[in-house]
Amino acid sequence: MDKSQFNVVLLPGDGIGPDVVNAAVKVMDAAAADQGITLNYQTFDAGAAYYQRTGKSIDDAGVEAVGESDAVLLGAMGLPSVRKADGTEIAPQIDLREHYDLYASLRPCLLLPGVKTRLDVKHINMLVIRELTEGLFAGRHDPIPESDESCSDRLTITRAGAERLCVIAFEQARLRKAKQGTPGHVTLLDKANVLRSNAFLRKLFDEVAARYPDIGSDRQYIDAGSMMFITDPERYDVVVTENVFGDITSEIAAGVVGGLGVAPSGDVNDKLGIFQPSHGSAPDIAGKGLANPVATILSGAMLLDWIAEKQNAPAAAKAAAAIRAATGKVLASGPKTRDIGGTASTDEVTDAIVSALNNAT
Ligand code: ATP
Repeated sequence: MDKSQFNVVLLPGDGIGPDVVNAAVKVMDAAAADQGITLNYQTFDAGAAYYQRTGKSIDDAGVEAVGESDAVLLGAMGLPSVRKADGTEIAPQIDLREHYDLYASLRPCLLLPGVKTRLDVKHINMLVIRELTEGLFAGRHDPIPESDESCSDRLTITRAGAERLCVIAFEQARLRKAKQGTPGHVTLLDKANVLRSNAFLRKLFDEVAARYPDIGSDRQYIDAGSMMFITDPERYDVVVTENVFGDITSEIAAGVVGGLGVAPSGDVNDKLGIFQPSHGSAPDIAGKGLANPVATILSGAMLLDWIAEKQNAPAAAKAAAAIRAATGKVLASGPKTRDIGGTASTDEVTDAIVSALNNAT
């Protein structure tokens, strides 16, 4: 295939999802055009509103197109008012994780210029990697027991699951070190002193660490690590942990660097990446033009970096770098949305980022 054309599937979803995906597409298109590349989009229905209309949470053609795409940009899925008959939420992003075995969630937490943190720190640049397929969520499809006396969940760590998780953590540390000059260090967060499954994870982490002599590593208990996310976030580079611990710590890290409105993420396996803001559909502000588009715009930059790496397309990496620089400039001295202390609308912030891109060329 021509390396200047890439196929991107868009799944805008519910609530503010369509607004922030439109914003990111505007910015990605401007940056791609500057680098002589074209993103060809296919948009599919998915989410709670689609479920209400059709009884399905995602269009079948959409599921197939995701697998054939170069990458996916997802907005937000689910609405509190819409549930399946069994009471569960409409969450096609979780169905896609399972269908495509997307085993790692990459959540960069970077303190951006102009975004206030409540902590007295100047520099935070960490990547939290959460396992997505096993851990404490592994048994969540089991039926709820009839007994009214006890209930339990199991925590499963497999060798294959832990090894691929640790490998991606060390590979990401290497990539960040080469591209951004970060220290090249991976921290495992676990509860190996209490949970046998976590002692097993720690053993496998050490085995993988031995294969990466150029990358430093340490292990912390999750309780101590959670405290240090607040007291000393500057110490972290790549942080890796199991599913539920990662669910919680990645939100702590997002809060530390300014909140959900600026926190991008990507659910990946070795071939496919679905990029999305860390926030949900925010029905309280949907349709009001108040959504912060930055998390989705930065997810678009992650998507372009992913394409650059997987398809050996340096122009896509340049487009990603330009998006980050333009977004940083606007956050430092341009319009901001209400969630991060400004008064601007989604469109005003998006247009300012597109202008900053145009002015940089
Ligand atoms: P989910 O469970 O689907 O992740 P959630 O319950 O965590 O969703 P969100 O939808 O992420 O909730 O919203 C949490 C709060 O953050 C809401 O008050 C919402 O308005 C605000 N919020 C979320 N995303 C944004 C955004 N992009 N811009 C501004 N405010 C946002």
